[in-house]
Amino acid sequence: MSTAVSAATAAGARWAWAEVDLDAVADNIRTLRAAAAPSAVWAVVKANGYGHGAVPVARAALAAGAAGLCVALVQEGVELREAGIGGRILVLSEQPPELLAIAVAHDLELTVYTVTQLADLAAGGAHAHPVHLKIDTGMRRVGAPPEEAVPLAAAIARSDAVVLAGVLTHLALADEPDDPYTDDQLARFAAVLADLAAAGHAAPLIHAANSAGLLAHPGARRSFVRAGIAVYGISPGPGVDVLATGLRPAMSLHAKVSFVKRVRTGERLSYGLRHQFAADTSVATLPIGYADGVPRRLHAVGGEVLIGGVRRPMVGAITMDQMMVDCGDDPVGVGDQAVLIGRQGAEHITADEWAHRLDTIAYEIVCGISPRIERRYRPAVAPAGNL
Ligand SMILES: *Cc1c(COP(=O)(O)O)cnc(C)c1O
Repeated sequence: MSTAVSAATAAGARWAWAEVDLDAVADNIRTLRAAAAPSAVWAVVKANGYGHGAVPVARAALAAGAAGLCVALVQEGVELREAGIGGRILVLSEQPPELLAIAVAHDLELTVYTVTQLADLAAGGAHAHPVHLKIDTGMRRVGAPPEEAVPLAAAIARSDAVVLAGVLTHLALADEPDDPYTDDQLARFAAVLADLAAAGHAAPLIHAANSAGLLAHPGARRSFVRAGIAVYGISPGPGVDVLATGLRPAMSLHAKVSFVKRVRTGERLSYGLRHQFAADTSVATLPIGYADGVPRRLHAVGGEVLIGGVRRPMVGAITMDQMMVDCGDDPVGVGDQAVLIGRQGAEHITADEWAHRLDTIAYEIVCGISPRIERRYRPAVAPAGNL
């Protein structure tokens, strides 16, 4: 980064930013630990901590009693290690063979489900490296079929390269607690664990629950739970909303009004000129757009923004860097604070609300807040941890 760019960033000069409340992360971890007990909580900080910033979230989670961390990629684990984060870190799926030596060098525990990955680990120079054997009990994404669990565990036992640290599975429908599918998955998992024990391959750690599993399925709470979305204060899905009420969203999204104008009845605006005004009104422009993670379609599905503590409709197509808001006849000026996600006065807009309008899930909303948006931490963190 050039000095001028660094200075502009350091000054917080952009009128669009996200705030990440690390006290909320810590409170959520404590809430989840109480719900999961006696199971421990490992915090899932993949995808840059679901868009919140992996390093600050990881530090806050560990300080609040998370017993370990999970990531999706070797690169994500390396980022944590390079920031000085110790303790246990698990990579959740098999990785390209060329990354395994790096994973081993950074003490990243690995998920395995094929003999190929075991051979690659041995070839990569691993010695007694902790691996977690993943069984596909019904998610049908990755994992060994149940009948391969014992042969794979035996291969792990024979290998000098690895030791069996854990056995895991992943739930496909845990956020729909009325559906019996999760119980079927857990029963299949229990049968695999019994087979492993009978064959002399009991693992020190057993884990099955994601956030929804933790909240809704006591039987999924084993040695630890892998909590992702709930750590960030977001419910895993409408089916478990009532169980997630003790959580507090950590991320809010902010902008300042960059321009204000009056428009007349019948005028139209933005690309495609799709919005036409039925009355004279004031329109505020915000310097944030779809390149920042505000989905372009949000304006067409009732998206709103808080300005002056009042919900106001997005108008016209959201553009790459800017968007517009109808403020009626209320006084609004350049520099006024706008909240896209979060609280202002008595009103609040959640990532869930966006997700509901857009027919997606809040996971996609928070992960989609782009790197162009600066994350400001409360309480503040050292700049080195602010990546
Ligand atoms: C992402 C992920 C999780 C966390 O899921 P949440 O629903 O965010 O809690 C847990 N386990 C695995 C294998 C994952 O990929």
